[in-house]
Amino acid sequence: MKISHTNIQLRPSEWPVYILIAVFLTAALVLIFTIKNLALFSGNPVSSANAESAFAANHGGVLIFSKTDGFRHHSIEPGIAALTKECANKGWEVHVTENAAFINPKYLVPFKVVIFLSTTGEIFDDKQKAAFQNYMENGGGYVGIHSASDTEHGWEWYGNLLGTFFRDHTFLPHMPEAELVTETALHPATHGLPKNWHKEDEWYNFQQNVRGKPGFEVLLSLNEQSYSSVWRKMNGDHPISWTHELPRGRMFYTALGHNAQTFSDPNAMRHIMGGIQWAGRL
Ligand SMILES: [Zn+2]
Repeated sequence: MKISHTNIQLRPSEWPVYILIAVFLTAALVLIFTIKNLALFSGNPVSSANAESAFAANHGGVLIFSKTDGFRHHSIEPGIAALTKECANKGWEVHVTENAAFINPKYLVPFKVVIFLSTTGEIFDDKQKAAFQNYMENGGGYVGIHSASDTEHGWEWYGNLLGTFFRDHTFLPHMPEAELVTETALHPATHGLPKNWHKEDEWYNFQQNVRGKPGFEVLLSLNEQSYSSVWRKMNGDHPISWTHELPRGRMFYTALGHNAQTFSDPNAMRHIMGGIQWAGRL
């Protein structure tokens, strides 16, 4: 009996069906692979938070958080690089994320300090706000750099943590060189700094003056006579970096950091690293 080959050959009329099946299978594989990678790189806390928390717990971690909603400073990436390197030099483990989903009770607990590196705008939902407040009220450490004070203006607790919010900044010129006055040499964030030093930056004005508020200490202030700006300043008393001691937690804020040069300025880096060390009790 002669076997007909037509049964095992693809008839031209069937090609579109096989091509469709092949395309479908390829698409399915690509989709599975993409979802897997997205889960890995988005830092999905469900899949990786436990492992990361356990890792941080062994090292007393520093978390650099730089989510932005609106303006994004070009100094964020150089800031991450410089702070990561300096923290590593001191033997502190650094984790970096822009994913607010990590601001949850489980993930935050092992971190000694969370650095808000030029965050901007509305970046948290109510659960994340509650988690961060709880972390701070249970002895957490916070470091706010530059536009951390231009973040979550509608969040009253956060405003009380910092003592005030950003109001506006130097304009015409935008980044003048100004004289900084080191108000105390006894704090880790100012120890070793000159009594008076100079730096170019975008200088912030604040809605309120934190000087004299209970629990606050001014570390650096600006000599308002030393630079010009068409905007009004702070009426001659201009704190630019300060701390706030909570019953258990510690907050350090510095308005320095608009420009990338901040993170290669030895005085500014000494100041910021000292603030991280103090806030995190490192
Ligand atoms: Zn800025």
